[in-house]
Amino acid sequence: MINLETPRKFRAFVNQAHQVAAEMLRPNSRRYDLAEHEYPVELDMLAAMVDGLGASGTGSGAGASGVRRTAAGEDGVVNGSNLSSVLSIMEMCWGDVGLLLSMPRQGLGNSAIASVASDEQLRRFDGVWAAMAITEPDCGSDSANIRTTARLDGNDYVLDGEKIFVTAGGRCDAVVVWATLDKSLGRAAIKSFVVMKDTPGMTVERLEHKLGIRASDTATIRFENCRVPRENLLGSADIDKGFAGVMQTFDNTRPLVAAMAVGCARASLELTRDLLAVAGVQLDYDRPVHLQPAAAATYLSMEADWEAAYLLTLQAAWMADNGQPNSLQASMAKAKAGRTANDVTLRCVELTSSLGYSEHHLLEKWSRDSKILDIFEGTQQIQQLIVARRLLGKTSAELK
Ligand SMILES: Cc1cc2nc3c(=O)[nH]c(=O)nc-3n(C[C@H](O)[C@H](O)[C@H](O)COP(=O)(O)OP(=O)(O)OC[C@H]3O[C@@H](n4cnc5c(N)ncnc54)[C@H](O)[C@@H]3O)c2cc1C
Repeated sequence: MINLETPRKFRAFVNQAHQVAAEMLRPNSRRYDLAEHEYPVELDMLAAMVDGLGASGTGSGAGASGVRRTAAGEDGVVNGSNLSSVLSIMEMCWGDVGLLLSMPRQGLGNSAIASVASDEQLRRFDGVWAAMAITEPDCGSDSANIRTTARLDGNDYVLDGEKIFVTAGGRCDAVVVWATLDKSLGRAAIKSFVVMKDTPGMTVERLEHKLGIRASDTATIRFENCRVPRENLLGSADIDKGFAGVMQTFDNTRPLVAAMAVGCARASLELTRDLLAVAGVQLDYDRPVHLQPAAAATYLSMEADWEAAYLLTLQAAWMADNGQPNSLQASMAKAKAGRTANDVTLRCVELTSSLGYSEHHLLEKWSRDSKILDIFEGTQQIQQLIVARRLLGKTSAELK
């Protein structure tokens, strides 16, 4: 049966993640927000620590690397790497979302590898920092419309196309590239390929300037006659098993992005509560909301929304750990958490007004950082579409 308390075996790990967020990420937040595109060197040491925790079995990644699905235990319940990843990501993003997204070896491409790679590929790509490249100039939400091609030539696939907005695309060691084996076959022919950074024909063209998560680099990458070994195709090359294979990645990554939103929103809530207390606004959990000051009532309703986002995120991750189909819950969690983080962080700026808007605190930064969490890995509208399809039993052709 599902139990949404933090499992005892993860508590020490979650505490460690919180300490790291408080002592290493928060103190560097403003610096790398202002110094966009400067590499946060402090993360190298942190990543080495996380690697050590993973190797010792104490934790399974502060980011996205640990989301492989495991078979359920004999008692039928597993608290595994999906749950521990979302719990640690919540803490790290309470510290700083942009810095978490810049953690070496914890990219969204790592979770694509963890989700669909064979055991041999998993070993071969161990320790590689992988970004994820789906989006193209003519393909964002409609990921079935990918134009980048992969043509088999001897023992290599030859990739041609352009990928935009690749998180960690400048700094990573490899990129997981979505490409089509045959455009005429539509979504079934889309596969993902691991392309190592020094591969001839792959060029990082530019980095974006952004509203938020400015510590994280976001790259445009071109592939021209770029040859990758055929064994770098992730999962099955079988076209019949096409799109379902790559889409499976989202069932694991959407709860992670939801966790980022939950962590960022909690940071805003906690600081706002402190600032309201200094201003003399007391929160009373024993009195009806309508009998409390407007600022307190607003705060309490934000907290309720946050709690719902938190619980949905844990549920989606728990289901992944327990081998249960979770596409619906992953999209519900991502939709609720992304929207809540946007609402909460901006309303916290509103409640604290000039203090919240100024660079004196990080509230204004969190409101900028949170916006992406309702966009990448599928926008708010796309998550709602997926939820509607699942609930109504409609296909993507029937409900667009
Ligand atoms: C900072 C940043 C980092 C990113 N990192 C990555 C990354 O690492 N890898 C990667 O592959 N991509 C990444 N992206 C791209 C991101 O995933 C896309 O921006 C996102 O999927 C939306 O695609 P789009 O921008 O083309 O918008 P569009 O798909 O053109 O959508 C525009 C608007 O229309 C809405 N819309 C679209 N279709 C529908 C529909 N059927 N019904 C209702 N509304 C709809 C959307 O919700 C959105 O509001 C990143 C983007 C940013 C800004």
